Amino acid sequence: MIPVVELRAVTKTYPGGVTALDAVTLAIDPGELVAIVGPSGSGKSTMLHLLGTLDRPSEGTVLVEGRDVSTMSDRRLSALRARRIGFVFQQFHLADGVSALDNVATGMLYEGVPLARRRLRARAALERVGLGHRLGHRPHQLSGGEKQRVAIARAVVGEPAMLLADEPTGALDSVSGDGVIGLLRELSEGGTTVILITHEREIAASLPRQVAMRDGRVVDDLAGVPQ
Ligand code: ADP
Repeated sequence: MIPVVELRAVTKTYPGGVTALDAVTLAIDPGELVAIVGPSGSGKSTMLHLLGTLDRPSEGTVLVEGRDVSTMSDRRLSALRARRIGFVFQQFHLADGVSALDNVATGMLYEGVPLARRRLRARAALERVGLGHRLGHRPHQLSGGEKQRVAIARAVVGEPAMLLADEPTGALDSVSGDGVIGLLRELSEGGTTVILITHEREIAASLPRQVAMRDGRVVDDLAGVPQ
């Protein structure tokens, strides 16, 4: 099986000399659900950025679906990212004053799909995350958990191979957080690879795989609770 994403001896050094990632090798297979854990400053966000091709490594190779992204131009890389990778953040990053439907529909701008078609697909994505009854609601009319579901719908509307989530439950109460994790689990069962950073040990322990970081290195790569 070709991993959906792979880091081979990847090092990331920031200007000023901080080594945020130190020769990390990691492969994630299609359909996996992986938690990245570790103390603040251990390199989790840097790793997520590199997995998502938002940043390039200082050394080593990043492969997405078997393709070495270092050989791609920025333009091709943006196209790959738009088609194959979805992102979710702790703070949702929804556009204020814009309906849930259009927040999701704008997630497909890159694909050149006409608006009517984008809205149809956005509606299907919102139904998939359990928000079929909130299509016209604007972000301020939604709860935190609902906003994160909209953000997830936006991330998966183009049916990416992988969904990368940076602390997706960090701004939520535990009930909404559990709902979001349940949704990510469903997406993974449907074949989407899901990689998330979490500080919450219980969440990490409940997932099938945990990658533990410290000082820019992977110090543990564990199978969690059998699913
Ligand atoms: P984590 O997500 O685990 O908190 P990060 O990947 O954000 O860790 O950071 C890893 C290390 O890299 C830290 O020492 C941090 O200060 C440093 N770092 C992160 N981003 C930058 C940047 N843009 N410029 C300089 N140093 C950075």
